[in-house]
Amino acid sequence: MRLSRYFLPVLKENPAEAQIVSHRLMLRAGMIKQATAGIYSWLPLGFKVLRRLEDIVHEEQVRAGHIPMLMPTLQSADLWRESGRYDDYGEEMLRIKDRHGRDMLYGPTNEELITDIFRAHVGSYKDLPLTLYHIQWKFRDEVRPRFGVMRGREFFMKDGYNFDIDQDAAIHAYDRHMVSYLRTYERMGLKAIPMRADSGPIGGDNTHEFLVLAETGESEVFYDRAILDLTLGGRDVDYNDAAQCAAIKEEWTTPYARTDETHDSDLFNAIPAERRMSSRGIEVGQIFYFGTKYSEPMGATVANAEGEKVPVHMGSHGIGVSRLVGAIIEASHDDKGIIWPEAVTPYKVGIVNLKQGDAEADAACEALYKELTAKGLEPLYDDRAERAGAKFATMDLIGLPWRITVGPRGLKNGVVELTSRRSGESEELVPAEAVARLQGIYAGI
Ligand code: ATP
Ligand code: MG
Repeated sequence: MRLSRYFLPVLKENPAEAQIVSHRLMLRAGMIKQATAGIYSWLPLGFKVLRRLEDIVHEEQVRAGHIPMLMPTLQSADLWRESGRYDDYGEEMLRIKDRHGRDMLYGPTNEELITDIFRAHVGSYKDLPLTLYHIQWKFRDEVRPRFGVMRGREFFMKDGYNFDIDQDAAIHAYDRHMVSYLRTYERMGLKAIPMRADSGPIGGDNTHEFLVLAETGESEVFYDRAILDLTLGGRDVDYNDAAQCAAIKEEWTTPYARTDETHDSDLFNAIPAERRMSSRGIEVGQIFYFGTKYSEPMGATVANAEGEKVPVHMGSHGIGVSRLVGAIIEASHDDKGIIWPEAVTPYKVGIVNLKQGDAEADAACEALYKELTAKGLEPLYDDRAERAGAKFATMDLIGLPWRITVGPRGLKNGVVELTSRRSGESEELVPAEAVARLQGIYAGI
């Protein structure tokens, strides 16, 4: 993409309405524009990141054996009356009447709709296990939408639902989600810690929230520092292997990690003092096993091996895809702007032409642009007739992890400069080497 032909409405001033850094940087970098309270338009740069995250979520879900589909945003109230949640859900649910006076709602989540699909089409234990998911806009009429996309009213969420014949099979599904979520966040360059969450009236250890540590997080969290050392890395996971998935869950849930809702100070104080950590966190996902809570009232049953009809065991699992854009920025920025991890960056490399209009510099940039594009290293080329300082400031603000700077002085020696946004370090290389270096960096991502 050439910046001269792109739509990147960066702001020079700090927007007064933004209280936290991710909101401020998303507005300044021209990623989003508020449409109305808690509802945003995703401008091209923001949309690109959102799509990257969506792709990663899809890849990891499909890898785990979960099946993508798409349900609508608008739902009929009837199904919610069946589950008993139409009245329970409260004012967060946006209720709408259609022209015939029928009660509709903008889905805050989809347990009812998916259960209705399941009961219409699945009747035997032989069709299980089954996990369906979609990535779709949700609406929750939050009392206090704030922090930009972190707590929006309309937000983009991956929600998945597993259907299993019994509790053991459903726990395997739970563990699969645990592992696939850990992998998803790790790929995004994030450390998200699974923390035991409040399971409400159902009780038991059957729900975990995933939290990214950040001062601006809305949750208070307590954890054993040892959990920060855990990584999945290149581990080969067989998602069909229940024991392996359970072992990974065990590994991540053995060190103490809880939000204030489930915090137990006796257990916490038993950890050696130097490992006892408390801070704030952003909830970027949650997994839940809830047994037959929806299948029973809604009659979602299957015939088991003995031919008896039994309600299916279910769980639901969510990732806040649009919130993650903000969470990644909270975890990765400096005072000049965003620093995208390579896996989620909107463009892989920026090209800065120090002397636009100089025949040699222009030609070198064009050649690099072609070469990078051909190699799949999608570049953003700042080809505007701006001062070098302004070009650098824009690149730093929008946070591409790598920048190639091209100017007449370097070209005299046949070199360009490759700069890391994160470390600020630069290296002079001949253009072909710079391209090869980037290929190496992005090869494993
Ligand atoms: P919260 O406690 O932050 O209100 P929740 O527990 O009600 O969230 P879930 O039902 O668990 O939310 O939804 C799954 C994920 O969707 C959350 O982990 C979060 O990342 C994201 N999410 C929930 N509400 C919002 C919102 N208002 N804006 C953006 N993302 C949200
Ligand atoms: Mg939650």
